[in-house]
This record gives sequence, structure tokens and C-alpha cells, in this order.
Amino acid sequence: MVKGSGGSAVKPAIDARTAAASLFPPIRPRLGQALCALLFAVVVSSPGHAHENAPGEPPVHPEITPAQAAFDKMFWDIDEGEFPLDSRAQTFATLARLEQAIPPGDVHRQLQYRYMHCLIGFNHDAVGAVEYARAGAEAALAAGDEASEAALRACMGIHLSNNGDAAAAAVQYEQAAQLARRGRDFNVEGIALVRRGNLRMDAGDIAAGLQDLLDAQQVFERGQVAFQVDFNLFSIAQAYRRLGELDRALDYINRVVEFGQARSDELVLASALNERGRIRMARGEFEQADADLRQALVYATNEGRPGNIGYIRLQLAELQNRRARPREALDELQAALSAYRQTGGPPPQDLIDLQTGIAQSRLGQHRLALQSLGRALPALHDAGDLGGVMEVHLLRADSREALGDATGALADLREFARLRRDSTGQATHQRVLAMSEGFDARYTELRHARLREQQARAERLAAAERQRKPWRIASIALGAVLALVLGWLVLRQARRALRLRRMASTDPLTGAINRREVQQRVAGHLAVGDAPLCVVLIDLDHFKQVNDRFGHAAGDQVLVRAVAAWNSVLRADERLARLGGEEFVAVLPGAGIDGGAQVAQRLLEATRAIDLADVAPGLSITASFGVAAALPGDRSLEDLLGRADAALYRAKAGGRDRIEIEIAGATAPEAAT
Ligand code: GH3
Ligand code: MG
Ligand code: MG
Repeated sequence: MVKGSGGSAVKPAIDARTAAASLFPPIRPRLGQALCALLFAVVVSSPGHAHENAPGEPPVHPEITPAQAAFDKMFWDIDEGEFPLDSRAQTFATLARLEQAIPPGDVHRQLQYRYMHCLIGFNHDAVGAVEYARAGAEAALAAGDEASEAALRACMGIHLSNNGDAAAAAVQYEQAAQLARRGRDFNVEGIALVRRGNLRMDAGDIAAGLQDLLDAQQVFERGQVAFQVDFNLFSIAQAYRRLGELDRALDYINRVVEFGQARSDELVLASALNERGRIRMARGEFEQADADLRQALVYATNEGRPGNIGYIRLQLAELQNRRARPREALDELQAALSAYRQTGGPPPQDLIDLQTGIAQSRLGQHRLALQSLGRALPALHDAGDLGGVMEVHLLRADSREALGDATGALADLREFARLRRDSTGQATHQRVLAMSEGFDARYTELRHARLREQQARAERLAAAERQRKPWRIASIALGAVLALVLGWLVLRQARRALRLRRMASTDPLTGAINRREVQQRVAGHLAVGDAPLCVVLIDLDHFKQVNDRFGHAAGDQVLVRAVAAWNSVLRADERLARLGGEEFVAVLPGAGIDGGAQVAQRLLEATRAIDLADVAPGLSITASFGVAAALPGDRSLEDLLGRADAALYRAKAGGRDRIEIEIAGATAPEAAT
């Protein structure tokens, strides 16, 4: 594919196509071959091979001897898949032929050979590969061939990260980026930054990773690597989604959609719409997510790529599960599996098992659910997918309880609780949110810088034309390598980060948002200005007795039912949060004290109407409500809660199962009982 896009008539659409194809997780077993071909292009195309030019020749237009041309052609042919690399024997036969083709004394092509060897000769020996790459990089350094050194360090980084040594890989990417910067190879520099950014995000340092992506964007801008400039937006959108910054994620992915539309490129559109579907799913916009994913499916089908089709079907399955449509989810999973079968590669089994288990447990097929979840668990563990693991324990507890295995269910719940205690990502999360403000300001600057560049561009067109082709090839090469190698990893990380974010902001028992999250929302609302805001503080009555008489599990069920009942009478922008125990608050943006009283009345009636006969015979529940509206000078949730609590106290003292209202510190007549 590199050859096709690097030919004399380079079309942006082909570039986009190539990279977009690799946005989906890798399904091709011949990864090494793809890698070799792609990364090779970096070496042959990188500017700055001064050592191979006769004195006085322009560095970017070296004369190529027939022997050099033959060597280069063989690389291209390997790229085109004309050399079999399926077995070790075939790979080494190919490498031997390439080695023989090195023109005598051609140090640069010797290094290229080493580089190829580094990429395809070490499938199961990452340690040997790292040593080999290190020796090659040292040789490149001795030869003053910075382009080859950069590429060999990139190869070293790949093996290091495949080997799980992300920190060492990051060092190599850093050096590759520096070498490329010195050689003014903007593209290699940018892509090394992109790779390091993905590593950092993989390690959970999403803020630093995003910073790398935005730095890379700046480098691409400076180098006028137009395609990367547009395409890196995709990675940035993903990063924002992982941060839970869904508005920004949507903004960036919309630009990629536009980019795909402008080029009428169905592959770019398929991947961008797939991503937008995931963002919208995370925003809870299920209808729109569905529309995006189905449109992505149409494009992927037109393109005839079963791996991408399978991947999109998997998203649709998750969507159906989240919409509580387990049968439809299972249908999507079937479709995903049959698409993956056509690829000849393995499907992402842990994701399939997880979604299958969720659907089966929803359908009450608890034995099957336990099997599916049991299969998903080790893979999720291995992937470090903490959120996935926690979700499995919760679901498994349900199914075990339904099957009468109380001991097993309890063990799952204990494990869930232990993991929840261990997952302390909140401080990091705050820092990330704070930093991301600065990022966007910087990005705006970049866009302005780009406009200025564009004006100068016309004048430099002739000069740029000479260098554009190699840059573009390198650009596609590394971009595609990045996605091929990391695609699957990135996918898992994205899911983990999303789950962590979801868990960090919601109460796992009831699904209501937690105190921290509602504090943020209220503080944000109060900071905006004088829009009305009202809170209804809710406390279940005699809840301790519910636990004492009916058991803690029944108490938990009451909490779940109560939240469901309250949510059913709240509007979408009215959020219910669990402050702790059996105490909740409904936050009502736009509501004054009268509106708040009306909502409290609906909440009171909804509480009385909860039917708990199936939880325990004779079990019923009421709640007390305290209403307070925001006053000028209120800065935080606590300011409001202080007054709501005073009202709630009066409701309790007055006999419970009633509403009390606090108006500017004064007591109002009871709104309802
Ligand atoms: P009042 O009407 O005055 O509010 O009485 P109360 O019993 O509801 O209030 P109290 O604060 O004395 O008791 C709250 C109880 O809620 C105590 C605690 O065991 C129980 N609780 C807190 N969190 C949970 C939970 O997650 N699940 C269950 N089942 N019980 C919980
Ligand atoms: Mg109570
Ligand atoms: Mg209480």
C-alpha cells in the first residue's frame, strides 16, 4: 500500500484510505509484513541521507545507481506482498535475498537491511530484536545516518512496547523524535510523538499523552504534513473521549467526518462515524449513536472490510446492551462473529464474551452468562482492563445469586468492592481536566499558525513539491504502523478509561452520580451566573429498620428501586446524585423554589408508589424531602445543602413522608404531605 500511495500521482484520498484502514484493531495475522513494509518507507524516504550523495548533489535528490534501485525495488516488492513471510523459513529466505542485494559499500542500505531484519526477523524474540535494533542504531549513529537511526530507534520502541517495557519504548521514541527534529524530518518527529503519546495514554497518563498528540500536531503543521494535520485530529478525538471530555471529543471527530466527506472517502467516514458512535454512546445519546454506527456499517460494507464490519457490529452489540435490548445485542454479536470469521484472524474474544455475558444475564440465562463472563475475566485481567473486570464481578454476582449461590455472589461483590477501593484515579482525573483547558487554547493557536502557513505555502509550492512525496510516504507509514501495533491496545485502554471515568463519577449500586460529580456540576452551574438552581435533598425514612427487618440485600434493592422511581419523574437535565447511604439530592437547573417544590411533590408520590412486594413481603418505603434554591453568593453544593438539610430536618421532625421548603433561610409552609 505504501507503493500505491507513494507513486508519482499521490492522491490525498489514498493516504486517508490507507491510514483509515488501520484505525480499526488489527485483524491481519501478517503484522510483521505490514510493519516491515510500512516502516521501511520511512528509511528510504527520509531526507538527509547526505552520506550517499556525491559531493555537491542536492541531498533530497540523490542519484540512484542500478544496484541501489534493485535493492529499493525489492523492498517495494516485499511491501506489495510479493515475498512470502508466513513462516520463519520464508522470512529468512527473503531477508537473505535482500542482504545479497545490498550494493557493496552502501552503508545506508546496510542499515535499511538491518532495519527490515529488526521488523520481520524477530517475531517471537522481542529481547533479541531490541538488542539487534540497539546495535543497528549505534551503527547508524557511527555512520552519521540520522534517518536510519531514527527509524531503528522507532523499531526498538515497537519491540520494547510489545515486550511490555513502555518506559524504555518511550525513551526510544523520544530519541527518534529528537533525531528527526534535528534532521528537520517533521513527519517522523511528529509520529514519534504520536507513538509516545499513545504509550503514555496506555499507561494511564492520558493528560501527558494528549499533550504529545497536540505537540505532534504542531510539528505536522510546521512541516505542512497536511494529511497528518487532518488525520491526527482522530487521535485527539479519541484522547478526549478517553478523558471523558465528550463535547471536545465530538468537536474533533466532527472535523474528521468533514475531512472524510470532503474526500468522499468511505473508509475515513467508516472509522470516523464509528468513533462518533462510540462518543455518542458514552454521552448516552443512543439514537444518534445507533445512526452513526449503522452509517459506518454501510461504508465499511461498501469497502468490503469484514474486520471493520465485525468491529462496528461489536459496538452495536454494546449499544444494544446499554439500551437494555439483550436479544438485539446477541444478534449483533452473531453478525460480528461471522464478519470476523471472514477475516481469517481471531476476533476480540474477551469483548465478545463480555457483551455476550451481559446480554445473557439480562435475559436471565444465568448459567450461560456465568460461562461467558468466566471466559471474559482472565482476558480482561491480562489486558489490565480494571473496569471490565469490575463489571464482570458485578454481573456474576447477580447471576450467582439468581442461581442460589450466595457464597459465590458474595465473593464477587467483595472482589468488586476491593477493586473499587484500589481504583484511586480521582486526583489524576482532576489534573487532567484542569490541564485540558490549556490544551484547547494551544490548539486554537495552532490553527492560527496553520492559516499563516497556508498563505506562505503557495509561494513555497515548488520547493515543497520536491520533499512532499517522501514525507507523505513516511507519514502514512508510521501512522499506519502506529495504528496496527497499538490499535487493539488502544481500544482496550479506551474502554478502560471510559469505565474508570464512569465509575469515578457514578455510584455502582444505583447508577446515580456521586457526591464528587454533583459537587462539580453544581459548582460549574453556580459559577456561570444567576440562572436559577434548586436542590431537593432526599432521605429515606427509617431505612435502618429496613435493613434490620429485611436484610441488607433488601435494603440495597430498595435503594435501586427508589433511584429508578425518582429518575422516572425527573427530566434529562435534572440529575439525581447519591450523597451517601440513603441520602440523595436531585439537582434542578433552571428551577426556582416553586419549580423545586413541584418536582419534590412528584418525587414524594413516586416514592409512595414504589412496589417492593417482590423484594420482601410487607416491605414499603417512604422518604422525607428538603427543598432549597440557590441564592446570590452561593458557591458550592454545600452552601445549598446546608439550607436543604435544615428543611429536611423539619420534615423528619414533623413526622416524615413529607416535604419542607427553605426560602432564603426562612421557613415556608409545607408544600405537601
Ligand atoms: P431516618 O428516617 O431518621 O432517616 O432514619 P434512618 O434509619 O433512615 O437513618 P439512619 O441514618 O439512622 O440510618 C441509615 C441506614 O442506612 C444505616 C445504614 O446501615 C444504612 N445504609 C447506608 N448505606 C447503605 C447501603 O448501601 N445499603 C444498605 N442496605 N443500607 C445502607
Ligand atoms: Mg434515613
Ligand atoms: Mg440518613
